[in-house]
Amino acid sequence: IEPVHIIGGGMAGSEAAWQAARMGVPVILHEMRPVRATDAHRTDGLAELVCSNSFRSDDDETNAVGLLHWEMREADGLIMRMADRHSVPAGGALAVDREPFSAAVTAALESHPLIEIRREEIDWPPESWRSVIIATGPLTSAALAERLRALTGEDGLAFFDAIAPIVHADSIDMSKAWFQSRYDKGETEAERTAYLNCPMDRAQYEAFVDALLAAEKTEFKDWERDTPYFEGCLPIEVMAERGRETLRYGPLKPVGLTNPHQPDVKPYAVVQLRRDNALGTLYNMVGFQTKMKHGAQVSVFRMIPGLENARFARLGGIHRNTFINAPRLLDAELRLRADPRLRLAGQITGVEGYVESAAMGLLAGRLAAAERLGRPLPPPPRETAIGALHAHITGGAEAETFQPMNVNFGLFPPLDGARGGRRGKRERARAYTERAKPLWREWARLAPAAAPV
Ligand code: FAD
Repeated sequence: IEPVHIIGGGMAGSEAAWQAARMGVPVILHEMRPVRATDAHRTDGLAELVCSNSFRSDDDETNAVGLLHWEMREADGLIMRMADRHSVPAGGALAVDREPFSAAVTAALESHPLIEIRREEIDWPPESWRSVIIATGPLTSAALAERLRALTGEDGLAFFDAIAPIVHADSIDMSKAWFQSRYDKGETEAERTAYLNCPMDRAQYEAFVDALLAAEKTEFKDWERDTPYFEGCLPIEVMAERGRETLRYGPLKPVGLTNPHQPDVKPYAVVQLRRDNALGTLYNMVGFQTKMKHGAQVSVFRMIPGLENARFARLGGIHRNTFINAPRLLDAELRLRADPRLRLAGQITGVEGYVESAAMGLLAGRLAAAERLGRPLPPPPRETAIGALHAHITGGAEAETFQPMNVNFGLFPPLDGARGGRRGKRERARAYTERAKPLWREWARLAPAAAPV
């Protein structure tokens, strides 16, 4: 069998290599460290955790990332195996002792008979490589990123994320908010629910601007400064600093909208959210990318009428990050439509986080190996955590506003009848994980190990 070439031995590439080899397919893993460094990595170990040592919640009954842990464990995941072996106490979270963890992943891959590790930077995979997984992460080296951009087009690859907060639709108070697109454009149900509006009167607007200006912000790292994104997508608080009226002429402009709850009162400003996924479970606060600290974001954004009890599927941020517009560019096999011998995995596919990146590595490794073996796999069920992430990046998300995403229950198909009727957040979360587990077990079995590992 011809090998699968994996570029990048981080969270995704390490898991992908393990999974493909586990299925009996040879792997050549190309990792550029220590030949070439990144701005964040400090060692030459594989699966180095570049910042926090947390894999977040390990609760697989009521938490989406906990479910992701569970699914990866069920699928013989190497990252989870070594994380469990080198965990450190952290309450309900899974935290790992980073150096022994990375050393254990490196040793497992180095000693696997089907895996060869080459320490070299790959500028672009040669034509002779028939199956390639690009898992070069948020700090993909410049040469490879440029080639990828040339292949995918100007808008295909971003060097920064500018993440606007995303809100669970069912936590928005519809006695204050309403659906309407500006100037009533669009007629179908999907068009009618494309935008959701939250009105502000003058006092609310002034208080909101004051809170934005006063909120605690995070700093850019040295190597993130002087970035080209600034003109394209200013943080909302920087816009507010330019003048008290700036937001009313930008993302909060109140024109072309009528509040059905108070048709005679013209709102002073309107926060417009845009549907973020085909399921209609998530709404994006377009234009609200921000460097405010997470706690500050929650309190400031909950000042917006209708969002007082908002639950955030993700909070805003701006970081150096290399990722593609996956919903537009990837097929269901995680292959680039423009060159199907190339699969992508990890943060570069537009997922966010160590665990999500490793999960997309697990999937890409299995899909690539199955293809080599001539037994292609169906996509994972979207009721599972891995399936929900996969469905989101390969078409469920809106391509126009696509930004990296953590796993969360807003990505899952809504619960049906009886289960959907369960009261309380924990109960509903439990229904999601109960629905997911048997389906994942069944899917994971479709790719058996070639020999016990
Ligand atoms: P990586 O783990 O970065 O692996 C990519 C690998 O590819 C690297 O080893 C790199 O050396 C190699 N590589 C790059 N280009 C080439 C090339 N051309 N040829 C060969 N090899 C190449 N997520 C969290 O969950 N928690 C955090 O606290 C967190 N902090 C972060 C802090 C920073 C500064 C950054 C940039 C990201 C952070 N993330 C965090 C986000 C993300 O989840 C991690 O970066 C995660 O490691 C991504 O996994 P990955 O496999 O996609 O990329």
